[in-house]
Amino acid sequence: MTRILKGPAVAQAINTRSTAAALALKKRGIEPQIAIVRAGERGDALSYERGATRRAEEVGIAVRPIVLDETASQAELIATVESLNADASLHGVLLLRPFPLHIDDGAVRNALAVAKDIDGITDASVIGVFTGRGRGFAPCTAQACMEILDYYGIDCAGKNAVVVGRSLVVGKPAAMMLLERNATVTIAHSRSTDLPALVRRAELVITCVGQPRMFDEHYFLPGQTVIDVGINVTADGSLVGDVDFEAVEGIVEALSPVPGGVGSVTTGVLLKHVIEAAERAMRPVP
Ligand code: NAP
Repeated sequence: MTRILKGPAVAQAINTRSTAAALALKKRGIEPQIAIVRAGERGDALSYERGATRRAEEVGIAVRPIVLDETASQAELIATVESLNADASLHGVLLLRPFPLHIDDGAVRNALAVAKDIDGITDASVIGVFTGRGRGFAPCTAQACMEILDYYGIDCAGKNAVVVGRSLVVGKPAAMMLLERNATVTIAHSRSTDLPALVRRAELVITCVGQPRMFDEHYFLPGQTVIDVGINVTADGSLVGDVDFEAVEGIVEALSPVPGGVGSVTTGVLLKHVIEAAERAMRPVP
């Protein structure tokens, strides 16, 4: 029987630890605080902001919403980020993206101080994941995959792992994090040949391609652990992963569902990073 790697239990464990850590910080006179920066009124940004705000407040993290007009200039956005960098009462900054089209994403992202980059979006944060010597935080979705593996006691050491997808947000950092955990890692992508055979050879599979239900029974064998990062909306409006859950459940050993898998852990990771940033801010830089 396939073990279902449910995300909410993982998120709850993370949030319980964050709540206790937030309380400990407050006892020392520090209120963990995050700024959420939004330019415009896009529906998905608004709903993400609402969800993150509610969960942050539940954990004991104060939220400062910063709202700019959709027509705000790049200089304005960068000046906002720089003022948040300089504000010692703030421990993390979440930039809601994509920015309006006239904004250079890289210029604004990289204006953010690495110490406050709780979502791992700056180039410096990503370099830190690759070198293992960064002072920043890993991208939250890639970290969420690791949190699921840890929570369910799945050891990566010595295992053959395949990550399908090579974006800087998910695939590449997830692959580096598996390597750090001593897995033997292959990164596959749209130009990989005979993907089903490649995936079947792995003991651990992370799918992050954004193709609804692409990974069906032809990709899998008994004994595999599969983490599905994909979030796809089908023509009838339902939310599905990259893995064809119904076809694969019953074949593999363990499988994370969509919805209710990686996506439900990501905000917990973000808030955990805010707490860690606040704890680090108390310690003098060596
Ligand atoms: P992305 O930037 O579009 O990258 C997709 C990757 O998948 C690329 O490397 C692409 O290969 C590869 N790919 C696409 N079609 C493929 C195919 N048919 N066979 C093999 N590889 C293929 O997407 P992303 O930002 O990494 O996101 C991936 C998925 O994760 C999306 O569904 C997204 O919604 C989801 N996501 C979930 C969360 C969460 O919290 N759960 C967060 C972020 C993203 P090439 O490089 O060769 O083009």
